[in-house]
Amino acid sequence: MKRKEVNSARMPVYRDAGFELFDAETTAGAFREEGTLQREPDNYIYSRYRNPTVVSAEEEIMKIEKCEWALLTQSGMSAIDTALSIFQHGKETKPWLFFTEIYGGTISFVESILRVRRGLDIHYFTPDGGNYNLHEFEKVLSKLKPEFVYIESVSNPMLIVADVTEIVRIAKKNGSKVIIDNTFATPLLYRPLNDGVDIVIHSATKYFSGHGNLTAGVICGNDTKIMQSAIEYRKFVGHMLSPDDAYRLQTQIQSFELRFQRQCDNALKLAEYLNNVNVISKVWFPGLKTHPTHEIAAKLFKGKGYGAMITFDFDGGDGNEKRSRRDKFINLVSEKIKLIPTLGDPHTILMPVEAVWGTKYPEPGMIRLSVGFEEYGDLEKTISSALKLVG
Ligand code: PLP
Repeated sequence: MKRKEVNSARMPVYRDAGFELFDAETTAGAFREEGTLQREPDNYIYSRYRNPTVVSAEEEIMKIEKCEWALLTQSGMSAIDTALSIFQHGKETKPWLFFTEIYGGTISFVESILRVRRGLDIHYFTPDGGNYNLHEFEKVLSKLKPEFVYIESVSNPMLIVADVTEIVRIAKKNGSKVIIDNTFATPLLYRPLNDGVDIVIHSATKYFSGHGNLTAGVICGNDTKIMQSAIEYRKFVGHMLSPDDAYRLQTQIQSFELRFQRQCDNALKLAEYLNNVNVISKVWFPGLKTHPTHEIAAKLFKGKGYGAMITFDFDGGDGNEKRSRRDKFINLVSEKIKLIPTLGDPHTILMPVEAVWGTKYPEPGMIRLSVGFEEYGDLEKTISSALKLVG
């Protein structure tokens, strides 16, 4: 049967493993150029190298992130692997510096793969009292001169907002690049490339996809040399996103701004409400004046929102009283607010912090909420009814 051209308004799912190249000359040309191309021309070779449905989803991300290139991968973790590994140059590799307040999976990757297996010279920088001491950071950097500094714009679960403009200034002064995981802030609140960051990473599993039904990651930038290294690494290691996931992502991302704006609005209202409830001892949310990095958040996000994650702790004399309130709460809201270990889903979901992070954070009653875009009144009602019963 002859292949049909139909008037689809969307890029279809091209599930082809390999594409027809017709003759030896076209094949030679395609292979010659492949390592350096993200989008054009349409001489596709093999879907692990480049795939039209994936390219189409990348174009959607480029519009949102306002960047020169975006490369999709199978998960946030494979995006992180790509972004970091391109700076590994055998014995010539310089030290790498990571802020400690980053996703636990990233820390595990850095420790188990980068430090233990690959033997890289890894260093950490830890916040001081809920904020980063940039004076200390400058001292560390001027001594260490790392290849790059790795940060998250909003950390997890304490929601520390990094002063990216200052971090970039200090890093550039010391010849270091800056790589940022911007999953929690998203380009709706902040575009780090505008401030001189070299690579932006997202777990597209979260707000970009927004429906909890696929895993994907993306790295974005403006520097062509970085793009070419990343294309090569993604191809050799096989981190390419599948066309099916790319198709769903390219469709779902079209409602990203609407969804995320509503999630941010809901989160701000909910954080303000939780902050006035007696049985809750503390709320961490960058939109509250009490958050140690509220002013940095206001500076970077310019009032567009403060993200859609909230962490709070229960009041209680000892750890066990806090734990008992936490468990009762989780049980009472479970019909409407599910315990699902991800974030960025359509509905509000939660996670008990201690069960995931162990004793890293001292308050055992802590719960992390990923606020959804459901009707706010219903959400507050579910939470307030449960809080009245937790005792
Ligand atoms: N970065 C952040 C901030 C995350 O929260 C996560 C996962 O939760 C990741 C990266 C990893 O993303 P993925 O699960 O899509 O591999």
